[in-house]
Amino acid sequence: MDIAWFRKKKTPRTPVEGKLSKVPEGLWVKCNGCKQIIYQQEVVRNSNVCPKCNYHFRLTAKERLTSLLDNGIYQELDSEIYSIDPLKFRDHKNYKDRLRDYKERTGLNEAIITARGTMGGFPIILCVMEYRFMGGSMGSAVGEKVTLAIERCLDESVPLLIVSCSGGARMQEGTLSLMQMAKISAALGRLHEKGIPFLSILTDPTTGGVTASFAMLGDLNIAEPRALIGFAGPRVIQQTIRETLPEGFQRSEFLMEKGMLDLIVERSEMKDTLIRCLRFMVNENLPRRSTEPGRLQP
Ligand SMILES: [Zn+2]
Repeated sequence: MDIAWFRKKKTPRTPVEGKLSKVPEGLWVKCNGCKQIIYQQEVVRNSNVCPKCNYHFRLTAKERLTSLLDNGIYQELDSEIYSIDPLKFRDHKNYKDRLRDYKERTGLNEAIITARGTMGGFPIILCVMEYRFMGGSMGSAVGEKVTLAIERCLDESVPLLIVSCSGGARMQEGTLSLMQMAKISAALGRLHEKGIPFLSILTDPTTGGVTASFAMLGDLNIAEPRALIGFAGPRVIQQTIRETLPEGFQRSEFLMEKGMLDLIVERSEMKDTLIRCLRFMVNENLPRRSTEPGRLQP
């Protein structure tokens, strides 16, 4: 998945692609699961899940934050942190130009939004990855934002929630991307020592260096139905081991059966389930600093 940027020349994408197939524009959408044409409003009303086959359409990071937090209100953190181009990387396009394009296209500085808010009344810090920004790839800025979020959790004794949606490490930053895996994992280790809960939500797709580090390190690893979750892609594995892969390989249900996940939760049930988990996991006796007053955004 990571190296796709290197190999393929892609036609420019519209911001909505990957989220909803646009046939025809506007009113109707084609479901990627059952291929039926559905009234878009019906899908939106159903938490962006196909009412016919339960296919979970991809959410933007902002939609995800709104759907999880009380009253859809959050305060964004560290939005001024973004990647530069330390390696002067170029494939068929300059990395710097790519970054600029994605910023324009998504209105975000990076492939992740970190924010604070409350969930069922519990103060919580969230990191939500944005797939539309370079495939949700993890560069040094994404790694830094996640680490800062974890340090805030440590400081304030509030739980952490990360929603992954990523193709993995960002190859345009080479080893600087890869070292984020160790950096974040070390910070999560400190969170674990202090007994602060970390809930990891894996959505379609969660692959590469993100799966190989924080996405799988949750106290609970919770996936959405039928999400693609893996390290290397199925084609690479098939070519390496020279065997046909079993049905449903690398999907949530398959991983659940093999003991890699704790729960598979429908999107409509996600918030209530997470609140139940928090009620069970949060240690009310930990000293908790009051959350910083700040600007809340809808
Ligand atoms: Zn469908």
